[in-house]
Amino acid sequence: MTKFGLKIFISWLFGTLLFAFPSFAAQIDGLRIGQNSTGARVVFDADANFDYKVFTLSNPNRLVIDTQNVEVTSKAVNSLQKNDFVSNVRTGPTGVSGVRIVFDLLRPIVVKKAFMLKPASGFAWRFAIDVETVTEKDFIAQVGNAYAFNSKDYQQSASSQSVAKSSSDSAKKNALRRRIITIDAGHGGIDPGAIGYSGTYEKNITFAMAKELKAELDKNPHYKVYLTRSRDIFIPLRDRVKISRKNNSDLFISIHADSARNRKATGLSVYTLSEEASDKEAAALAEKENKADIVAGIDFSKEEKLVSDVLLNMAQRETRNFSSEFAGLLSWQMSKIVKTVSNTHRFAGFAVLKAPDVPSVLMELGYLSNPTEEKQLKQKSYRQKLVAAAVRAINKYFENNKH
Ligand SMILES: [Zn+2]
Repeated sequence: MTKFGLKIFISWLFGTLLFAFPSFAAQIDGLRIGQNSTGARVVFDADANFDYKVFTLSNPNRLVIDTQNVEVTSKAVNSLQKNDFVSNVRTGPTGVSGVRIVFDLLRPIVVKKAFMLKPASGFAWRFAIDVETVTEKDFIAQVGNAYAFNSKDYQQSASSQSVAKSSSDSAKKNALRRRIITIDAGHGGIDPGAIGYSGTYEKNITFAMAKELKAELDKNPHYKVYLTRSRDIFIPLRDRVKISRKNNSDLFISIHADSARNRKATGLSVYTLSEEASDKEAAALAEKENKADIVAGIDFSKEEKLVSDVLLNMAQRETRNFSSEFAGLLSWQMSKIVKTVSNTHRFAGFAVLKAPDVPSVLMELGYLSNPTEEKQLKQKSYRQKLVAAAVRAINKYFENNKH
């Protein structure tokens, strides 16, 4: 072959190769799961909207999403975090230009809703699937029922529908403004909280951790961080919620440390609000933490209504999903560096998590009743590890929710 002929051959080869590559209309490059007490939301990040069909299959139980002209990156597949709903995700071709995304289910579910969220302020598209836990019998009954949608049916960003962020103007500002984080050091003043194996007060551990977490977050110019208390004083639980709302917080983190009669009990846990507790331990813990006000001689059992608005329910549901998403990220980061309790993310009726419009989580750093964990929690170097993991979770959460 002449030099010229070779050139032609090469350009022909490359031309053919280029045409041989399928052109994708959209690329999915992120995947995350937020859990709550009754179900979960699966969210995909994509650079464009796309048509999809969602359905379930049995034997083994699977959740399936069929799409057209969509590329699912390995980054998206690999970003699946450990959760209670699906064990893994895989993709494969279907039809002429289709891609099938398959989740293996850990429990029977139904698809309640699937929808596309329009990008807010120039940020990516999100495709969300809300699922709810059901009995195996109910799962079987609806296997194969497809939830098919056209890419033209999409919603505005859910956050721009919520009470706090109602106009598109404020959504635009959201993209630019600093994220506001309120950190709540549990207990204080007259209320010492749990008392450790060798007499350590919970209120001192929570305060040290809160200050250290603030100091670390303050290094990031994109964050504005507040503490609910900056000294050893008593603040009623509902006032902590009020402070969080008054600060216009994007995230509220309440820090605690547990104690148990069983000195062997150890491990960190993360909680979000739910009327129904995920288990007896979580219910008992919420009851104990909610007694903080009574300890100080105040009884706010008849809580005043925080907000009265027809949109309240919607905002609460949305807030719960964000809280769950952050709790999942926090549990995951913590589980990588310290011992966590099984089912690290749990749910119960904590009074301090009741702001309807601020995603809120409560973290129990460990058990002060356990001599080893008490000693560790008193060490700044140990707390610094927890701080670093919390910062990673916070960064990831705001990266995921740029709208
Ligand atoms: Zn506490």
